[in-house]
Amino acid sequence: MSFSALGLCTKLLNTVAEKGYTKPSPIQQEAIPAVLSRRDVIAIAQTGTGKTASFSLPILHLLEDKPHPEANNVRALIIAPTRELAAQVAANVDTYSQSMNLRTTAVFGGVRIEPQKFELEQGVDILIATPGRLVDLYKQGVINFEHLEILVLDEADRMLDLGFIEHIHHIQSLLPEKRQTLLFSATFTKEIKALATTMLNNPVTIELAKAQDHIESITQVLHPVDKERKNALLLHLIKNNDWSQILVFTRTKRGADSLRNELEQAGIAAESIHANRTQQARTQALDGFKSGRIKVLIGTDLAARGIDIEQLPCVINVDLPYVPEDYIHRIGRTGRASAKGLAISLFSDDESKQLRAIERFIGRQFKKVFVPGFASTPRPPVAKAEEDLYGNFEADDKSKRKGKSKERKKRR
Ligand code: AMP
Repeated sequence: MSFSALGLCTKLLNTVAEKGYTKPSPIQQEAIPAVLSRRDVIAIAQTGTGKTASFSLPILHLLEDKPHPEANNVRALIIAPTRELAAQVAANVDTYSQSMNLRTTAVFGGVRIEPQKFELEQGVDILIATPGRLVDLYKQGVINFEHLEILVLDEADRMLDLGFIEHIHHIQSLLPEKRQTLLFSATFTKEIKALATTMLNNPVTIELAKAQDHIESITQVLHPVDKERKNALLLHLIKNNDWSQILVFTRTKRGADSLRNELEQAGIAAESIHANRTQQARTQALDGFKSGRIKVLIGTDLAARGIDIEQLPCVINVDLPYVPEDYIHRIGRTGRASAKGLAISLFSDDESKQLRAIERFIGRQFKKVFVPGFASTPRPPVAKAEEDLYGNFEADDKSKRKGKSKERKKRR
């Protein structure tokens, strides 16, 4: 699905293209049309899923080309639990609205209230606020919610954790009954359900967590290995296991092709699909895989995302994806329809950041299993120079390791 299929105006389509977003994320695919059709929405989605754009873009679309608010009035109110989140949401809204004639402002505590009062006195199309400062400003008489059209509660579960429930109910009592309300939360607890019941009207429920539930039935293993030995390990695993077919993911198109060549040379029927291959080549590769003629299909995230393959015994990530959600999409190709699945990730130590992000996203730590003969080289931190000893540590690199082994040989 493309952004243009979602019903957003050209200005916004240009902005997302400029930002380099090629496809709407799953939450965006579901939330944007729902918001555009003026429905209330409850969306269970974590940070990192593209949730901010999933409410900001359609709100901008709905507010554009309408009369500006009168003094002190607000048309859309986004409430966020912390200053940091409010500032981040405001930065996103500013970027997405750059080509539009809309007034947006963010108000939160810890900074002077006077400039915020001044901004509000002009009337604001989109106000992003933390609960405490919002109530303060209201009490000072500078906000009028009479013409409010849209309310967003972002990270509602965190708002409850931080004890803002009274503030939320107070704010709710000030708003027009007839409005559109969007509630975003990372978790779908009893408390969130109760809050949604009091604040939303016949909402569309979008629960991305469902994709994650499915992965519970998949055995997930991480094999630490040196980066340069990943292809060799993959070959070893394919030869030593009796998987009928394997879907392999690489981060780059070039990685996919070089892997295909290596597998073919080893006598394993393999094909790659990625954006640089013609549509015909991709279709042939996919048909070959579906018919069983091809044993290993290697794809990049973009190319492999939309493909429909039933129940694979095994998915192997040669590289970890940058976007944690892609991990779920990748491994979701195995273990479907209650069949047991296996997802293997080959992990090199330059991927620690991605690993942490994925572990946070799926809410659990991987079991690391070394494959005999392929254990990754331990890389203790080595100071570059004596004076760096307690300063910048840097992982040992290959050249240094070579130097060290030469030294060791000499000593022997
Ligand atoms: P959020 O979940 O709103 O915190 O967004 C996480 C990150 O994803 C932000 O840096 C956004 O700029 C980025 N992002 C949002 N939508 C997309 C998209 N469709 N494609 C690529 N990146 C996106």
